Amino acid sequence: MNITVIGAGPGGYVAAIKAAINGANVTVIEKDKVGGTCLNWGCIPTKSLLAATERIDMIKDAKEFGINIDQNFEVDFNQIISRKDKIVKNLVSGIEQLFKGKNINLIRGTATILSNNEIKVVSNDNSEQIIKTDKIIIATGSSPIVPPMFPYDRKNVITSDEAVHMDHLPESMIIVGGGVIGCEFGQFFQKLGCSVTIVEMSDHVLPFEDEDIAKLLNRSFKKDKIKVMTNDSIVSVNSQNGSVSAQLSSGKTIEAEMMLVAVGRKSNTDNLGLEKLGIPCERGKIITDMMMQTNIEGIYAIGDIINTPMLAHVASREGIIAADHAMGIKSVINYNAVPRCVYTDPEVAAVGKTQNELDKNGINYSIGTFDFRGLGKAQAIGRYQGMVKVICDSNDTIVGASIIGPHATDLLTELTLAVHLKLTSKQLSEVIHPHPTLSEALMEAVHDVHNECVHKI
Ligand code: FAD
Repeated sequence: MNITVIGAGPGGYVAAIKAAINGANVTVIEKDKVGGTCLNWGCIPTKSLLAATERIDMIKDAKEFGINIDQNFEVDFNQIISRKDKIVKNLVSGIEQLFKGKNINLIRGTATILSNNEIKVVSNDNSEQIIKTDKIIIATGSSPIVPPMFPYDRKNVITSDEAVHMDHLPESMIIVGGGVIGCEFGQFFQKLGCSVTIVEMSDHVLPFEDEDIAKLLNRSFKKDKIKVMTNDSIVSVNSQNGSVSAQLSSGKTIEAEMMLVAVGRKSNTDNLGLEKLGIPCERGKIITDMMMQTNIEGIYAIGDIINTPMLAHVASREGIIAADHAMGIKSVINYNAVPRCVYTDPEVAAVGKTQNELDKNGINYSIGTFDFRGLGKAQAIGRYQGMVKVICDSNDTIVGASIIGPHATDLLTELTLAVHLKLTSKQLSEVIHPHPTLSEALMEAVHDVHNECVHKI
């Protein structure tokens, strides 16, 4: 069986490797770098950059721990960027090695699907070839949206694609959009010494997350002196002589050296040949069934190109489902238990339903909460800001959870498993959690669902 994957992001490269493990002859067509957005412009670059600001926080906190360090440290912005580049390069070459190890044929070029078993590839030197294949997995991902109002010049008005490759630290920056990308970059730049203003249309940052959790993040942004302008939006932008000014719907005018537009991403469906093939899209996204198959048998679509959460781990899971189905293996995906992580300080992590969502739909629930402050481990490491919130339905089944606090993104996995396996809070509360760990906050929160929390007044 010949399977061709278009795009080598976390959707496509995982699909390719799984298809090879399943015994297929696999070809991957990639027009840019393997690893896609996640590895080259998204998840890994941003987390590598944020690791630098974590070091700054450690230096600033050191005195409290009895370590006196000269606070006149310098930030070497170029070194921060080169460290990130090195990490990305290593991981990109790691994927290339994995491809070699699995005999996956990597073709560099831009793919257009001609029929259900023919793909045209135009290489970077403009040479063309036609690939014959039995099955196709489309994993072409997404790109930043820049509404026409923004004078996007990649210099003063940028998107996240440029933000991870900057050659200097700007003095000031306006960030349009207080979603995950806006919040992560906002904190990164502010902590390095840039003066950041985030403009968010909704009444809180992270508009799709739990309101209480987002309010705590907002508080932390205030402490960091990030200006957050909620319930406001940009109506016009003027960029000239190395500075950007924006008029807001509230009538205010704000100015900065740079503007980062982080208002969302659009799927890369252009020039793929979808219309000619009759593969339908809805709001710019390819429609598939739960096996990731489009309306044409043997053509699959996965990741940011379909209408599911735009996250690397979702793309990878969808890649496995498609690769399995293409080889006659049935596997399933559970969209009720998709973890959502924000790598701010404090971190935010959530899975399943939010309290606001249940309120809006008039669904009964019970909640349990616990503040990290009440934990010995949190006190010991000096990271006690934040809380865990667990939400159960009327049968006590855990249907959602949100965490803000130290290592929230790592801690979330236990609650993701609970939502995935439809565990009740009673079941999870019977699990012995190691002491002293931050994971005890999850145990305390599930005890709290039944007002049986030991370490809470
Ligand atoms: P992509 O990663 O976009 O890969 C698609 C690939 O297809 C690209 O390499 C592209 O060059 C190639 N391609 C496109 N068209 C063609 C064609 N016609 N022919 C050949 N090749 C083509 N997600 C998380 O889960 N955690 C995070 O922490 C996180 N942080 C992020 C931070 C930022 C700043 C951004 C922008 C995104 C972040 N994401 C994060 C989202 C994550 O990067 C995406 O959800 C994920 O990369 C989607 O994977 P994909 O395989 O669908 O597409």
